[in-house]
Amino acid sequence: MYWSWNNDFSSILEEIKRDYWKWSSKNPVKFLETIDHNYLFDIIEKKNLKDKIHRLYRDYREYLNKATILEKSSEDENTSKYIYLSAEYGITKCLKFYSGGLGTLSGDHLKSASDIGIPLVGVGLAYLYGYFRQYINHDGRQSELYEQNYFESLPMNLVLDEDYRPIKISIEIFGKNVYAQIWCLNIGRIKLYLLDTFVDENAVEDKRITDILYGGETDKRILQEILLGIGGLRAIAAMGIKIKGCHMNEGHSAFLVFERIKEMMKKENISFKEAQEKCYYSNVFTTHTPVPAGIDIFPRWLMEKYFYNYAVNELKISFDELFAEGDLVTKNKGNEHFNMAYLAINNSNFVNGVSKLHAKIARRMWSLPESRSQIISITNGIHIKTYLSSVSENFYKKHFGKNWLEKPGFFEELKALPDEMIWKMRQKNRSALISQIRERISDKLKLIHDSEDKLQEVQEMLDDNALTIGFARRFATYKRGTLIFRNIERLKKILANDKLKVQFLFSGKSHPKDEGGKNFIAEIVGYADSDLFKNKIVFIDNYDMEVAKQLVSGCDVWLNNPRRPLEASGTSGMKAVTNGCLNFSILDGWWLEGYSPETGWKIDSPENYENMYDFDVDNYESESMYNVLENDILPMFYDRDSKGIPVKWVNKIKTSIINLAGYFNTERMVKEYYDLFYSKLK
Ligand SMILES: *Cc1c(COP(=O)(O)O)cnc(C)c1O
Repeated sequence: MYWSWNNDFSSILEEIKRDYWKWSSKNPVKFLETIDHNYLFDIIEKKNLKDKIHRLYRDYREYLNKATILEKSSEDENTSKYIYLSAEYGITKCLKFYSGGLGTLSGDHLKSASDIGIPLVGVGLAYLYGYFRQYINHDGRQSELYEQNYFESLPMNLVLDEDYRPIKISIEIFGKNVYAQIWCLNIGRIKLYLLDTFVDENAVEDKRITDILYGGETDKRILQEILLGIGGLRAIAAMGIKIKGCHMNEGHSAFLVFERIKEMMKKENISFKEAQEKCYYSNVFTTHTPVPAGIDIFPRWLMEKYFYNYAVNELKISFDELFAEGDLVTKNKGNEHFNMAYLAINNSNFVNGVSKLHAKIARRMWSLPESRSQIISITNGIHIKTYLSSVSENFYKKHFGKNWLEKPGFFEELKALPDEMIWKMRQKNRSALISQIRERISDKLKLIHDSEDKLQEVQEMLDDNALTIGFARRFATYKRGTLIFRNIERLKKILANDKLKVQFLFSGKSHPKDEGGKNFIAEIVGYADSDLFKNKIVFIDNYDMEVAKQLVSGCDVWLNNPRRPLEASGTSGMKAVTNGCLNFSILDGWWLEGYSPETGWKIDSPENYENMYDFDVDNYESESMYNVLENDILPMFYDRDSKGIPVKWVNKIKTSIINLAGYFNTERMVKEYYDLFYSKLK
């Protein structure tokens, strides 16, 4: 997957056949399957691409062989590994195994672990239909289409044994065996293994365990989580990988706790309690949820259905004892729940939240006994190269050399660069985004044979020179995608000003069962279609990692307005930073740490916001938004010098990159995981 964070690779494939690269959903395996080989070799000759390809290949070899910052032995197959487990992975557009930020974080974790050489292995599920493709209906509402993945045409391979047969694991679930095969992806130097239950041995209902991501039914969810946690560890064992420790990214994989204990009991011939004590010191748990309602819980009867035999036969304890590991507070009989985060916390010496504020909230929420290790914070980051547009990357390469990102303290060097260069880079990024949006929308119109007039209109939509504000993420209601429309009269006034032009771009999917989130999308689509806001508000459908990269690089301002303190971290704003896009956000999650008057803008929250009604908080915070927009952001963007450069704005970009980019990235984050957790596992 090295190619997925390499703009040069993408540009070579575009030079070979741009349409096919687009039509394949940027999947190189499909691209090479569909392209005629005579054409391929001809065009490589004709366009002189050979040198470029060779150079890319040399870079790749160099990447794989370069000395690692951390453990020298990481290359060695026999080194025991840190096992990282997550229900979703966002690696690149064509691998639809993610829904949002949790997934992109998992993907970025693996990419940076590869960059710096941590002996880590990822485990997840290979969903046949993955997450849905979003359509906006004629009535402006989201509808979902699940498209089948063809794993053979994706950049992943089945894991085979010495006789070239797929390695399969099995789990006894409710009296019968369920089987899974394993797919492997190379994330640079890191392996990611994904389990897949669509194998002949399974009955139809068992095959369907890995059909879609986050379908919403409790029974399916517990089966997926049994597969991820218990099956994941069995896959690791089946492949002969030795475990140094396990990192649970969110509670979905927490059942692994039991499987590790079971294995330890067998190996050392010890009791449940003794094995539990031993495993505790090599488990890591990262929580992402600041509210109890956000945590995975399962009713007692369901746990009993799937874990009664496992408790008695495998763990040699009663079901009640097993249940107690995840039974938090609900002591009223008959209504007890098993809490996955509690299971993980109970069984991990190393627990962290994903920003300073979130860790504080999590400490309050869980109030762990003083005798044990406490919840600390490791603030999230992003894998810089994954979200850097080619315009931005070429800018850095041109001014600072090919290995610019590897120079320690590099971003400081930006200070000396003339404002004009940075402004030019920004203009190019914005124009690139706008042409990408025009292409996307006209492709869609061509599909339904819309009129020439309409197509012409699309070619003129949006303004290449207007201040462009982006808002894109999952449409969960706490993220308040519609907050900017709270006082429509004020917004109208801002958008009507022809001297200080501004346009808003929205994108995001809502979970299929979240009607509240879907209402938000419908509201925005309604505004985008209205004459009032035409061309000033645009909703881009089917948000994914590609659209994310386009928006965070092309927009001037990245807006985030979650209901504090519900945004545990947020990462899309970090993706904006290195592209020179400035943040404008509620002081929640990472922005509480990243914000200063020199790096961006804040939206003020009322004091005592935690005890206020949503209605009042929304009013207060939206008014602050309009004020900052009118008084600070717009005037600064249009305050130009004689050469047409907004000098103050450009200085803010410099400070934002210099102060934030070196810290809010996954290289720093993964190093922290290594120093604070991984290197201390016993
Ligand atoms: C980064 C990213 C997210 C996370 O965005 P937040 O603002 O942190 O919620 C969600 N979806 C995609 C596709 C992303 O790339």
